[in-house]
Amino acid sequence: MHEMSLAESVLQIIEESAQAQNFQRVRTVVLEIGRLSSVEPDAMRFCFDSVMRDTLADGAELQIIETPGTGRCLSCGTEVEMLEKYGLCPYCDSPHLQITAGNLMRVKDLVVE
Ligand SMILES: [Zn+2]
Repeated sequence: MHEMSLAESVLQIIEESAQAQNFQRVRTVVLEIGRLSSVEPDAMRFCFDSVMRDTLADGAELQIIETPGTGRCLSCGTEVEMLEKYGLCPYCDSPHLQITAGNLMRVKDLVVE
């Protein structure tokens, strides 16, 4: 389950910001997960809770914002919404779609005290 190592990198980001901004506890973590990022929100929730145990984010609430995937068709140049990583252009049926957004996961916000 690659969500486990992603949750660990989230913890790393939290620890780095805690050092930079001098906070002790994290109440809420807001994660933005792109629909094309191959990150399962449910799996992420599960891993989040176990990775954050006994850290400064123990018991923190995880909020997940799912962002839509978009791409550009390399054949006809249209911007299209993408529901999965590989698909066909709805306008010209070309399989050559280049992802332009929605393939990343990032920490959008931390509520700290
Ligand atoms: Zn097209």
